[in-house]
Amino acid sequence: MSRKFTKREFIRYTLLGSGALVGLSGMRLFGSTLSSSSPGGVQGGVWRWSKEARYYVPTPRGMRCQLCPNECDIKEGETGDCRTRVTENGKMYSIVYGNPCSIHIDPIEKKPLFHFLPQSRAFSVATAGCNLACLNCQNWQISQKSPKETRNYDLMPEKLVQKAARNNCDSIAYTYSEPIVFYEYMYDSARKAREQGLRNVMISAGYIKERPLRDLCKYIDAANIDLKSFSNDTYMRLNAGDLDTVLRTLKIMKEEGVWLEITNLVVPEWTDDIAMIRRMSQWLYKKGFKDVPLHFSRFSPMYQLNHLPATPVSVLKKARQAALEEGLNYVYVGNVPGTEAENTFCPSCGEQVVSRRGYHILENNIKNGKCGYCDARIPGVWQ
Ligand code: SF4
Ligand SMILES: [Zn+2]
Repeated sequence: MSRKFTKREFIRYTLLGSGALVGLSGMRLFGSTLSSSSPGGVQGGVWRWSKEARYYVPTPRGMRCQLCPNECDIKEGETGDCRTRVTENGKMYSIVYGNPCSIHIDPIEKKPLFHFLPQSRAFSVATAGCNLACLNCQNWQISQKSPKETRNYDLMPEKLVQKAARNNCDSIAYTYSEPIVFYEYMYDSARKAREQGLRNVMISAGYIKERPLRDLCKYIDAANIDLKSFSNDTYMRLNAGDLDTVLRTLKIMKEEGVWLEITNLVVPEWTDDIAMIRRMSQWLYKKGFKDVPLHFSRFSPMYQLNHLPATPVSVLKKARQAALEEGLNYVYVGNVPGTEAENTFCPSCGEQVVSRRGYHILENNIKNGKCGYCDARIPGVWQ
C-alpha cells in the first residue's frame, strides 16, 4: 500500500531538508555540533535532501522500484511501501539520503558480529523506513515511520565518514532500521569510507533484489543478516517478506566474499519450533554455511507482540544444541549475558578461544586467525 506524498509536501520537504530538521540546529553528537544550517535547494541538478534512486523502471502505472521484491509501482506524488522513495516529475527519489535519524557508536559485538574486528568501534547510522513490517520489530519507532515523522541529522556521506574517523571507529555500520531502504546513502558512504580505509558493515533482513545486492557487496566488508524463520508462511505472516529471497541473499553475500554472520530471533509461538530450527541448520550446513556464526537471539515483548513472554532461556539452549548437532561450528545465544553460549569454542580441540560477557571480550586466544591451543584456523576477520 502506498502512502500519499503530495507535490507540495515533496517540494517543502526537499527544499527545507526535512520538516524534522527545522529546529535541530545545535544538536550535539559526540562533542561536536551537527549543523542544520546548510542551504537546501537544488545542487548540481539534484535536491540536496533527496537523491535520484538507482534502481527503477518506468511502467504505464508509474515508476516501478527495482530495489526490493516488493516492486512498488509509485505514481507521481506517491511513496513506496518503505516510506523512503517518491516519484516526482517522472523520476524516483530516495528522500532519506544524508538524513539519518539515529547515530551511535557501538561495540561491533552489539551488531552482533563476533568474528569481525573484535572490540572495535562501529559508527552506526540508520534512517527512518523499512521494506518489511515485522510484528515484533524492535525499532518500530523509526522503521515503521516516514522520514517526515522522525528528527533527522544533516549528515551527507563525506561528513559521515569524517565523523566516523574522528571518533576512532574502524567501521561504519548501516543498521537499526533497514539499510536497504537507504541504499543510495549507504552505497555512497561505503564507497567513501573504503577510500579512507574504514570498513563497512550492514545489519539487514536481506530483503533485496539480486542486482542491487551484488553492486553493494563490492563495498561491504561484513554483514549480519536476519534469517527470521525457515518457513515461507511464517515469513509472510510475521514479517511481510519471503524466505527464498533471504536465502538467496545469504548465498550471494557468501559468493561475493562478504564476511557473514546470521541472526535468528526466536519468537515464542512463531519461530520457536525446534524441528524448524533443525531444518534451517541442515540447510545451512548443506549449503556451505557451517563456519558462518549463527546467533540465536532472545525475543523481548514489544510492538504488536507485546502480549508474548520473553523467549525462555531453555528454548534458546535447545535451539543452539540442535544447530550444533546438525554440524554448525559457531552457534551463539544473544541477549542472555552470562551464558557459555556467548563464547567461541574451537571446533578442532574444543577449547574456549574467546570469552565474552555481553559486548565485552574477557579473553581472546585467537592468534593470527588461529586457535591459540591447537593452531586450527578460526574463520573470521580478526585484524
Ligand atoms: S525499496 Fe521501498 S519502494 Fe522500493 S520496492 Fe521495496 S518497499 Fe517498494
Ligand atoms: Zn583449537
